Amino acid sequence: MLRWLREDSSARKQPDIRNVIEGLQEFYKDCILPLEEHYKFSDFHSPPLDPADFSANPMILLVGQYSTGKTTFIRYLLEQDFPGIRVGPEPTTDRFIAVMYGEKEQVIPGNALVVDPDRQFRKLSRFGNAFLNRFQCSQTQNDVLNSITIVDTPGILSGEKQRLDRGYDFVGVLEWFAERADRIILLFDAHKLDISDEFRRSIEALKGHDDKIRIVLNKSDMVDHQQLMRVYGALMWSLGKVLQTPEVTRVYIGSFWDKPLQHDHNRKLFEDEAKDLFKDLQCLPRNAALRKLNDLIKRARLAKVHAYIISTLQKNMPSMFGKDSKKNQLIQNLHETYREVEKEHGISPGDFPPLGKMRELLKEHDFTKFHQLRPRLISKVDNMLANGMTKLMQMIPQEEEMMKTEHVIRGGAFHHTDNSPFAGGEGEGADYGKGELTDWVVNEKMDKYESEFMKLGPVDGKISGATAKKEMVKSKLPNTVLGRIWKLSDVDKDGKLDLEEWGLARHLIEIKLEQNELPMDLPPHLIPPSKREFSE
Ligand code: MG
Ligand code: CA
Repeated sequence: MLRWLREDSSARKQPDIRNVIEGLQEFYKDCILPLEEHYKFSDFHSPPLDPADFSANPMILLVGQYSTGKTTFIRYLLEQDFPGIRVGPEPTTDRFIAVMYGEKEQVIPGNALVVDPDRQFRKLSRFGNAFLNRFQCSQTQNDVLNSITIVDTPGILSGEKQRLDRGYDFVGVLEWFAERADRIILLFDAHKLDISDEFRRSIEALKGHDDKIRIVLNKSDMVDHQQLMRVYGALMWSLGKVLQTPEVTRVYIGSFWDKPLQHDHNRKLFEDEAKDLFKDLQCLPRNAALRKLNDLIKRARLAKVHAYIISTLQKNMPSMFGKDSKKNQLIQNLHETYREVEKEHGISPGDFPPLGKMRELLKEHDFTKFHQLRPRLISKVDNMLANGMTKLMQMIPQEEEMMKTEHVIRGGAFHHTDNSPFAGGEGEGADYGKGELTDWVVNEKMDKYESEFMKLGPVDGKISGATAKKEMVKSKLPNTVLGRIWKLSDVDKDGKLDLEEWGLARHLIEIKLEQNELPMDLPPHLIPPSKREFSE
């Protein structure tokens, strides 16, 4: 009895798993990797997973023809530039750029990235130097990048220019990123919708990842309402030819940059669409664990099938003579081996790797070096699939609940406060800076702003967010910008604007309309005199 108890307690001596990602990493190392190594899995399928593959932030991949606003979209999300950014009407981004968080602003070249064991890019070395010279990481200190990595891609050319040879397997690289991405955003330009052959091939390379794809019809404010409907129809028609089920892929219509809208009658639509897109992206950190769990289950099942195939081939090899001819025969009749495995181990036909590819790869191998079946290696994986994964799966809802408050994307265009009339989302405490009492630069314009303010019908000296919004949208500035202005202007955070705060809001709108950058926090000369107590 005592002995039984002792055995039970030792059987329970499992690693103490603190979170799902750590658990997946443990399972991979303890259960799946030994099976992979024993049967040369990486020679046939994909290389072993690194710790960086598990710990990496969720990744958003941006794909589109040139000048559809990919780079600008990143700047829009971050609300700042990143090192090495180039934006323009010509194809300006000629490389893959992983925009990631870093304490230091810097550009790390591709050749250095692929030898860094702490990064998830090591396997990209197989695309060669021509690619590595066109690959970089741009590091910057931006809160958004604390929770996600964004990958900018070269603008895909249309028409004549697409003949340009990139010198590396562009579609292959795109596939590599697509496989690892949590979200793939395809960008189209509403006022210049043409789909080149290279872009069509690129979209085809994304097949099998349909569930990750979202479509952004960008620059939609450049056309009028009727044109926009026409472009939307044309886009769906074109996509129908390349995507399996374009009708279920979500299309977001909008204008994702910080300049005033040209046609702003669709403002409400753009606003709702942007909100939906943000909500979708906001889920990525939370869903990343589930995606990685699903991917690892798929990998474990393939590793098992692979072990059965290799060990069955080994079993059917002669021990002495005629090894070469038997090998050729086994490759020729590989489908028979598949059937044998199917019957003996109850594997469903859909779980087997493609015959053609497997035959090619088997030719390169010495069958006499293959190992026989080791049931213990298999049962470890089975046990992990049946028990371990279930345990991790049960942890996910809890973890997601916890992450709802902790691991949402913060900063950049995700910053808007709850009581901002321009957007929902998480708020953050503002740092008003330490101001000595300097003159308030808005003072000289206050006469004008005061008469405006009175017309808006203040109650107890204040106007509501809704009233302010109605007035502020007349600037035609997009909501992300107005949301930022609101956040800076509502200095005491009561969700309303008093006269001074209104003056500040109007001043900031003028700054932006003159194409100047908005401050991240209020400098002393912008803090209204009556609010200076907040800066102490
Ligand atoms: Mg670009
Ligand atoms: Ca206020």
